[in-house]
Amino acid sequence: MPDAKHDLLVIGAGPGGYVAAIRAAQLGLDTACVEKVRELGGTCLRIGCIPSKALLESSEQYAHAQSGLGVHGVAVSGVALDLEKMLARKDRVVKTLTGGVAALFHKNKITRYRGHARLQAPGRVVIDAAGGSTAVEAERIVIATGSETAALPGVEFDGDRIGTSTEALAYPAVPERLIVIGAGYIGLEMGSVWRRLGARVTVLEYLDRILPGMDREIAAEAQKLFTKQGFRFRLGCRVTGARVEGDRCIVAIDGEEPLSADRVLVAVGRRPNTAGLGLEALGIATDAQGRIPVDDRYQTSVPGVFAIGDVIVGPMLAHKAEEEGIACVERIVTGYGHVNYDAIPGVCYTHPEVAAVGKTEEQLAAAGIAFRKGKFPFRANGRARSLGAVDGFVKMLADAETDRLLGVHVIGPRAGDLIAEAAVAIEFGASAEDVARSSHAHPTLAETLKETALDLDGRAIHF
Ligand code: FAD
Ligand code: NAD
Repeated sequence: MPDAKHDLLVIGAGPGGYVAAIRAAQLGLDTACVEKVRELGGTCLRIGCIPSKALLESSEQYAHAQSGLGVHGVAVSGVALDLEKMLARKDRVVKTLTGGVAALFHKNKITRYRGHARLQAPGRVVIDAAGGSTAVEAERIVIATGSETAALPGVEFDGDRIGTSTEALAYPAVPERLIVIGAGYIGLEMGSVWRRLGARVTVLEYLDRILPGMDREIAAEAQKLFTKQGFRFRLGCRVTGARVEGDRCIVAIDGEEPLSADRVLVAVGRRPNTAGLGLEALGIATDAQGRIPVDDRYQTSVPGVFAIGDVIVGPMLAHKAEEEGIACVERIVTGYGHVNYDAIPGVCYTHPEVAAVGKTEEQLAAAGIAFRKGKFPFRANGRARSLGAVDGFVKMLADAETDRLLGVHVIGPRAGDLIAEAAVAIEFGASAEDVARSSHAHPTLAETLKETALDLDGRAIHF
């Protein structure tokens, strides 16, 4: 006999899982969610998107107060860092938001279980907790167990000096020298935080470029701007090991002299989290990357068992997990619901921000799709001038024949907000001409999108 029965049980309360649970409850299902840690919100709210953005904002304010105000005629002196307060603010932001998810669960009458969930049979999960085990049955089970930091052979994590983004969200003092392994999202965002607070940051990257998922031209601009900010990049560099020696971290690099630093941040990707989940009990095999294969309804090889978010194929992004949670549940209840993977934006919250939606120039070239390209620099935009934030540009790619928007890439002020317009345009199947003919308020940064669309047709007005 089970201890409890529900229509739907979600395993994991990250953005994929908690959003799926709320949507299921909205659709009238008796819904439960099991989470192994105390707070709801998953990687994103506890140790990912939210705390990193809180620190990015605080550190940017500090850097701006130090050297960005003079140009506005604002003279400041005695700017000082109170790191403890900065970290405490970040913790408060996290606490408010994880508490908010708990309130949403309560409002939507979602049953919460605390403990490690393990699949025992189709429709049956056992939840192991300190106080004992609970058996729960549910007609549908949604696995949303997310991901964890990928390890690097030879690198010995000590949970302190050589660590992951989680440690980098809480260094107790600004490292004099920080080595970041991996020039992706985490390396550049967390590297930016500590660079702004005074650390000398060296980024070691295996590839010959930074931000591998992004358009190459945009990534090259980003590297140039970050180098100006004091980042040191060593590309084409294969790290073979890292260890703590006394009060130093020693990083070994293939064919080069070892480097030494106070701290090392390993940010070489994340891997799906399926440890102890009991997939084997149901005969669910993972793919070569450890992901759970699903069909277009997010159903695994076992009927009634679904998977969404970081634990399945696709970009490891919070909003992608959310969209999948909603589509999966709507498909179960209503029979329809889908995610347009061509319209999922990606944003790297550095300064300036880097954002993209749709295809890169390289992807279109590789697929043999003929396209036209428009570009517009922020230095020709009135609002960017007023802000004093003129670095970067917008790039738009449209089908050569139909003019349909295929990709939009932005590096510049508020790129993360600007990309929303492009995502909506792509979702609606807009042409570049649609964007060019839409009125954009003046003076706004969004005018760069209109100008870029005009440039596709050689009609940009201000450049
Ligand atoms: P997760 O958020 O990982 O949640 C999975 C949950 O399942 C966890 O709470 C875990 O405790 C629980 N769980 C796992 N196994 C079990 C089990 N057996 N039983 C019970 N519970 C279990 N993405 C963005 O879009 N924007 C960003 O700005 C961004 N910044 C990031 C910054 C950092 C430092 C990191 C690490 C990630 C960032 N991400 C960002 C990625 C984002 O956090 C993930 O893509 C997102 O959290 C995935 O959501 P999810 O629901 O699939 O999994
Ligand atoms: P990533 O995939 O973004 O970047 C990892 C980088 O490490 C790549 O450039 C890769 O080439 C490099 N690398 C891999 N092996 C290496 C090696 N041995 N030596 C040197 N470099 C190596 O991964 P991440 O930065 O760890 O982030 C993990 C995931 O979290 C990402 O997939 C991302 O989707 C998500 N995330 C998103 C955001 C955001 O949306 N703003 C922020 C942080 C994290």
